[in-house]
Amino acid sequence: MKKLLSLILVTLLMFSFVSCKDTTEIPEYKNDRYIYAIVPTTEGYKTLIKFDVVEKTAVSACPDPLCEHGRSCPVSGMSNCSMTDNCIYIERGDISTGKSVYVYDLAKNEISLFVECKQISTPQKGPNGLVYFTISQIEYNDEGLAEKEIFHLYCRNEKTGELKRLTTEPLAGFAHLPNYAEDKLIWTLSGEPGYWSTDIDFQNRQPYEIPRADYMFEFDTIYTNTLRHEVYRINNITGEKSLIFKDAASFRYLGNYPNYYAALYKPMVAVGEDEELEYIHTGEIAYIDLYDTSKTFIWDVPEDISVPNIYNEVRNPRRVNDYHGFDCQQYETDEQGNLYQLHGIFVVNPTTKEAFPIIYEGSRRLIRSAE
Ligand SMILES: [Zn+2]
Repeated sequence: MKKLLSLILVTLLMFSFVSCKDTTEIPEYKNDRYIYAIVPTTEGYKTLIKFDVVEKTAVSACPDPLCEHGRSCPVSGMSNCSMTDNCIYIERGDISTGKSVYVYDLAKNEISLFVECKQISTPQKGPNGLVYFTISQIEYNDEGLAEKEIFHLYCRNEKTGELKRLTTEPLAGFAHLPNYAEDKLIWTLSGEPGYWSTDIDFQNRQPYEIPRADYMFEFDTIYTNTLRHEVYRINNITGEKSLIFKDAASFRYLGNYPNYYAALYKPMVAVGEDEELEYIHTGEIAYIDLYDTSKTFIWDVPEDISVPNIYNEVRNPRRVNDYHGFDCQQYETDEQGNLYQLHGIFVVNPTTKEAFPIIYEGSRRLIRSAE
């Protein structure tokens, strides 16, 4: 696993050096202020919230002005949710029942059914508004019994909504697209070792060798009574090994620009309903430059805010412009001594050096009574 992560990261970094710029001509949805995140509501179901980093507000991301955003709201009760630059893909159901996947077109501000399937990959972003998915369906025999699961690769044009199947023969499993250029896609394929390149229609498949990068990264997890992470940078020419950070409770790679890791130190102890449990919520988030390994822009998380983890899925970045959002909880005690928990995001911006929480009021939940 360590090796795989290193390889992926090397690939990402390598592409930042060769600079395959996405010179798309398709007008894309312009988001300059919203971070989307799923939070639990007071009633206990999950819902998609739109956090405005300029106004510092949190409202339902539902596009329907007449909806009351209850349990049956189109952005509530999903099993999974992934984002691209233009769309949010909302999954309902699970692998046993099958999934219904809806697409929320942010430019059109509408939600529609995208596909029904057994499984679907996270959207894999390609050039010019193209997004790739591995989608599986169950194949039934003559008696109507489920026989096998068939995986195919599809390409969706997010501007036109067109969905095209690219494979004639089924794939062994999911296809992952770690990077791309204008006319070339780089893949890793389940069940096949190494990397592959294809054209944008998944044709002309060739084994692909990753060019040697200047650096590679080593990820170590230290198991004591809690988990701690260490990351090292290794110079591929000299072999020199430098510590990027250690003692981190959690970390996130922030992408090619601005070449930072964010690391969370001094993790939180969770609050529980057991009266013996105390809640300890100190912590700091640091941004670490991958090139000179300097640790910069350190924020203390406020006393009433808990940030248990800052890891995030690569394909669903809690980010807009230079604002990065980390899932957080806020704790409030009322005059009677009742303790409440609320959910939101803790936002930091290494350019402007701002740091603030945005809390969704509809997530308020009593977690410890005064009695
Ligand atoms: Zn709604």
